[in-house]
Amino acid sequence: MKPADIGPMFATWQAANPEPQTELAYSTPFELLTAVLLSAQATDVGVNKATRKLFPVANTPEAILALGEEGLCEYIKTIGLYRSKAKHLLETCRMLIELHGSEVPREREALEALPGVGRKTANVVLNVAFGEPTMAVDTHIFRVGNRTGLATGKTPLAVELKLLKRIPAEYRLHAHHWLILHGRYVCQARKPRCWECGVATWCRFKDKTPAP
Ligand code: SF4
Repeated sequence: MKPADIGPMFATWQAANPEPQTELAYSTPFELLTAVLLSAQATDVGVNKATRKLFPVANTPEAILALGEEGLCEYIKTIGLYRSKAKHLLETCRMLIELHGSEVPREREALEALPGVGRKTANVVLNVAFGEPTMAVDTHIFRVGNRTGLATGKTPLAVELKLLKRIPAEYRLHAHHWLILHGRYVCQARKPRCWECGVATWCRFKDKTPAP
């Protein structure tokens, strides 16, 4: 995609949705970290369903630890891989208490040192909780970046670095959400909805889906 086309593409998304939000329900950085940790290979809807019951009972590292593994699993057992996620979350809670005064750290290195927290999760937390212009490349963003020609790459990291380089600074804070929402609802994996896509003018995908 030509650099000159990138600005208009993001301006279109911004005009349609000026303040895009995560679809995960949370009210504190710790709740967000917990929700993102639980969301690997699960839907936001499924995670929200579980945390809606969990957070009123336990939404601090101390309270989650007090539940213990079995107690925590009762709340999250509808989420895929819940056993290992419970172990990671409990260990993360321990580290937050011991190393960070029970707060979620704002530094990438400290976040990535937490069990179950990889680069993508750290990027989401930095962006959503702390307003950093990071780019968490999930399956949707990886696909949209490659398909549109906005940022092509063989790995999520390659796409992330290219996106950060190519997206104009004024759009970087919200770019992550615009791209995810676009991939989730419009530029879908099996059949992109090109006929109703607001950014089709600039997209370089050759096999655009015709209107049904
Ligand atoms: S035109 Fe089609 S392939 Fe291109 S971004 Fe829109 S939905 Fe995706």
